[in-house]
Formats: sequence, structure tokens, C-alpha cells
Amino acid sequence: MVKQRKALSLISGGLDSMLATKAMLEQGIHVEGVNFFTGFCVEGHTQALRKKDNKKPKRNNSLWVAQQLGIKLHIVDIVDEYKDIVINPKHGYGANLNPCLDCKIFMVKKAQEWIEAHDFDFIFTGEVIGQRPKSQRKETMPIISAESGANDLLLRPLCAKNLPETKPEREGWVDRDKLFDFSGRSRKPQMALAAHWNIDEYAQPAGGCCFLTDPNYSGKLKDLWAHRGNKYYELDDIMLLKIGRHLRVSDHFKMIVSREEGETRFLEGYRKQFTYVKTLSHPGPITLLDGDDISAEDIYLASAITARYSQGRDEAEVTVLVGQPNKEPREMNVIPKKANEIEKHWLL
Ligand code: SF4
Repeated sequence: MVKQRKALSLISGGLDSMLATKAMLEQGIHVEGVNFFTGFCVEGHTQALRKKDNKKPKRNNSLWVAQQLGIKLHIVDIVDEYKDIVINPKHGYGANLNPCLDCKIFMVKKAQEWIEAHDFDFIFTGEVIGQRPKSQRKETMPIISAESGANDLLLRPLCAKNLPETKPEREGWVDRDKLFDFSGRSRKPQMALAAHWNIDEYAQPAGGCCFLTDPNYSGKLKDLWAHRGNKYYELDDIMLLKIGRHLRVSDHFKMIVSREEGETRFLEGYRKQFTYVKTLSHPGPITLLDGDDISAEDIYLASAITARYSQGRDEAEVTVLVGQPNKEPREMNVIPKKANEIEKHWLL
């Protein structure tokens, strides 16, 4: 009897990994998927909190892909181990703080460890040569294979015909003739293949799945590192960079001001950890003060700025509630800042 081969698919939730997985299932391979949670993922969080994204489905796309294709998905939390990749990428960053090549190597390395532990035969990804300027180039494909330790157990079904044969192809586990030769940034071949397989719903292709590729987000992360004096971060730090308006009003603290109701509720969950200001007399935002040695003057300034973003912005005074860790919250009246007193350079 021919042994059924088992493969692990790296599933991002986008179209490419969905098609690569479908291609392997079509060849009779037993496929399970893995999705790595880095903390920088875009989906879910923003859709759940922001009104403008409310119409997007609030789902985990990797789970949705697995469910559509009928495979098991393993979601693996790599938040702690991943820090070293973001902080010290051997191959450097892309256009923003995205360490794409190191990230790919790391994820394939984790996948290689997983297949060794679970007695699977090979790994595959939805990578396509030329699709991403930094990490998906012909020259980077062998680097990922070699530095991850997966070597020729790493197959890229969508562009395999443009690459040297891998072990799964040599050994006849998969039929190379039924693999693909996609390359470049055009999504048309993928869309045609999706149509061929009657896949008519998928996450928007190439649609920024990771905050590290976002210039605004990267700017806020750089600011955080610069003002803390080191490149370290905690999960809460990188979550909060996704939320609200960030104002660097001083070297020793910044303000995180909610922009709408969903964000206000989310930030309220951090009241015990931070000094915060919430408008009381008028509907308005909540603000977290992120920093050290926060003085009474800092709190007054942050309150006056917070009042500026409330519906009491044109009033003579706004009452706010000020809370500090381990202290009873207290009320305070402040004069809202005028629009021209909000310095442009404060906004991150
Ligand atoms: S976009 Fe983000 S998740 Fe994707 S390879 Fe780059 S760093 Fe990794």
C-alpha cells in the first residue's frame, strides 16, 4: 500500500496559502495547518473595535480557511520568541519595521520543529516568487529553506516549477506536473485558480495582514523604543499601538486617546495599569498616560487635551475623572485646549 504522506501548511488566512493547501489536498496529501500568532496581526482586533471596519467579517481568517477546506488548524502563540525577530532581525527590515525575511525563516523553522515532533513528511507555504519585494524573491527562497533547517522539505506549490525540485517531488509524494509556476505581483493566476476550484470568497489578497508593514504603526513602535531607551516590548505595548490617537506630548510620557466608543471600551480595560483621564461632564474619550514619573502638571495637560477631544471642547470648563494605579479616582475641572494649542508634532 502507498503510504499517505502528511504535510503541514503555513496558513496566513489569505488566498495564496488557501490555494497552496487546496493544491496539496487535490493530490491526496493529508494536510494540517499552522498559524502563528505574533501579536502584530491586523485582523480581528481593528474590525471589532472600529466603526469603519464593522462591516468586515469578524473572524480569524486562518480558522475560516481551515474550515472551508476541511483541515485541522493549529494556532501557535509565538509572541515571546518572536520579539527577538522584531528587535534584532539578522536580515534587516523592509520598508517599515517588518523583518519579513527573518520572520519567514523563523516560522518555517517552527514548522520544521512541529513536523519532526508530529511525524509529518514535509512543509509547504503559499509563497510566490516576486510577490513581496523583501521576502518572496527567487534569491530569498533558498535562504528561507536553508536557514530554517527545513531544506528540501519545504515546498512552494504555487511557484514550485520555477524552483529546484524538493524531496516531496523527487520522491513522488507529490506530482510536480500538477504544481504551478506563478511569479510576480499579479494576482490574476491566483484568482483564476480560485475560480477554477469554485473558491469565491477569500480574504482580500495582499491586504496588509501585519501591522509591522504599516508606516504609522512602525513610527509609533520606533517612538516607543526611542523613549524607553531600549527596543524591548510587551504584548500590551504592541496591542495599544493599534488603538487610539497617540500623542507624544513629553519625553517622559505619551497619551493614548480613544477615537470612538469601541476604543473607549477597550482602553477602559487598562484603567488599573495606567494613569487615565475620562471626561465626565461631556461625552468624550478616555486617555491613558503611558510613561514614568507623571506629575500633577502632566495630568492637567493631558486632561485639557482630552477635553479638547470631547463634546465639551467649546465650553469654558470640562470635568474629568482622573485615575491612578492604587489611588481613588478623583474629579477635576479643566479648561479645554484650543485646536491651535494641539501641537502637530505631538501626533504620532
Ligand atoms: S508581513 Fe509581517 S507576518 Fe508577514 S512576513 Fe512580514 S513580518 Fe512576517
